[in-house]
Amino acid sequence: MGYVDEVIERVIAKNPGEPEFHQAVKEVLESLRPVVEKNEEVYRREALLERITEPDRQIKFRVPWVDDKGQVQVNTGYRVQFNNAIGPYKGGLRLHPSVNIGIIKFLGFEQIFKNSLTCLPIGGGKGGSDFDPKGKSDREVMAFCQSFMNELYKYIGADEDVPAGDIGTGAREIGYMFGQYKKIRGVYEGVLTGKGLSYGGSLARTEATGYGLLYLTQEMLKCNGIDIKGKTICISGSGNVATYAVQKAQQLGAKVVTVSDSTGWVYDPDGIDVAVLKEIKEVKRARLTEYKNYRPNSEYHEGRGVWQVKCDIALPCATQNELLLEDAKALVANGCLAVAEGANMPTTLEATKYLQENKVLFAPGKAANAGGVATSALEMSQNSERLSWSFEEVDAKLQGIMVNIFHNLDDAAKRYGCEGDYVAGANIAGFEKVANAVLAQGVC
Ligand code: NDP
Repeated sequence: MGYVDEVIERVIAKNPGEPEFHQAVKEVLESLRPVVEKNEEVYRREALLERITEPDRQIKFRVPWVDDKGQVQVNTGYRVQFNNAIGPYKGGLRLHPSVNIGIIKFLGFEQIFKNSLTCLPIGGGKGGSDFDPKGKSDREVMAFCQSFMNELYKYIGADEDVPAGDIGTGAREIGYMFGQYKKIRGVYEGVLTGKGLSYGGSLARTEATGYGLLYLTQEMLKCNGIDIKGKTICISGSGNVATYAVQKAQQLGAKVVTVSDSTGWVYDPDGIDVAVLKEIKEVKRARLTEYKNYRPNSEYHEGRGVWQVKCDIALPCATQNELLLEDAKALVANGCLAVAEGANMPTTLEATKYLQENKVLFAPGKAANAGGVATSALEMSQNSERLSWSFEEVDAKLQGIMVNIFHNLDDAAKRYGCEGDYVAGANIAGFEKVANAVLAQGVC
């Protein structure tokens, strides 16, 4: 049995009941086969894959808090500090009832390579809790966040581990956690990112993931002789990533004809109106059924259907496993040229394979949506400098980072004989840098 298969088997045996973690390790290690085979003797002797798949530490703790009725509630908190070979641990805090140690490990493991791809000095980590902020009052959310930080503060710091937002953790939650950290530690430091602009947040962070997705997509198309200008794009989702992806796509001269939410989708043949989208989703917090009231030429459809619309480029920006094999078949039949993932893992493995086999350019989320974490790292830089950069400065840096990410993964794919396979390229490019750093720092 080869080294990769041995390690996958060992990870599964050592981490029972964690299917998401197994899946992530399998997916990454399998695409690293060419690198591992080339360096097998050294990697085996140094137990490199065992060290990379074993977190530096996993912290699990009780989070007691009192609800508005005076009832004590107990949640479980997690922080997995996976790998800090190239910088302080960095990764979001997910607050969702589905959170368990396996999910946090899967996300933390993926984060190592995503962060490495940005070429910024950030390691990989992830955390969260099974607390659900939905339906809770501000007071209850604050009580939870303060109790969560009462334990987490022991393990984080501006040079140690810098958590950020994720599902369920937005500006409100980050604010409460930052306030509590400051109160306990008595220091004002950039210990969290995603902060409000008045206390250390970065301009352009809100736009970063959607804008970054378009910068990388544009570069991928350019390197394949395609101009994004004049192209028709289908986008799914209508949240943070989708909204700013629509905006940047239109600034680059493309026409976005769809958006969706968890109940239905909109087709606007004249191009999605971003101002209307923001009004509905950010101001009114309403459903997309409202869109037609502002744009009578558009159509609203219940359920799924975005990927059945003819387009040149598809950008899934909603959620995991939302682009299925049947959708990939429709995209190919309609002549789609490229798919780039704005969401995390939106394309199923079979759909990805089908798209790649049919020569559709495919940029994986690990690279394509890295603009969010990259801009979080720029927030850390601004906090360290005690300066705030202008929107234009941050945006220009973001653009440079995304173009660079594309060339890194493109080069890695070419070096290992899988030209055009950007999934393998992203995993290899992310891994190489971390592997070199781990080996250089000795057995620790
Ligand atoms: P939001 O919560 O702002 O938006 C998510 C969007 O997806 C909403 O429009 C939501 O609809 C829709 N959606 C959720 N579930 C489904 C479903 N089952 N079917 C169809 N649509 C659905 O999240 P973000 O935009 O921040 O994140 C989107 C994705 O991007 C996630 O995978 C996230 O992990 C990833 N990501 C986000 C980053 C960021 O900086 N925000 C960074 C990197 C990755 P509804 O309004 O009905 O809930």
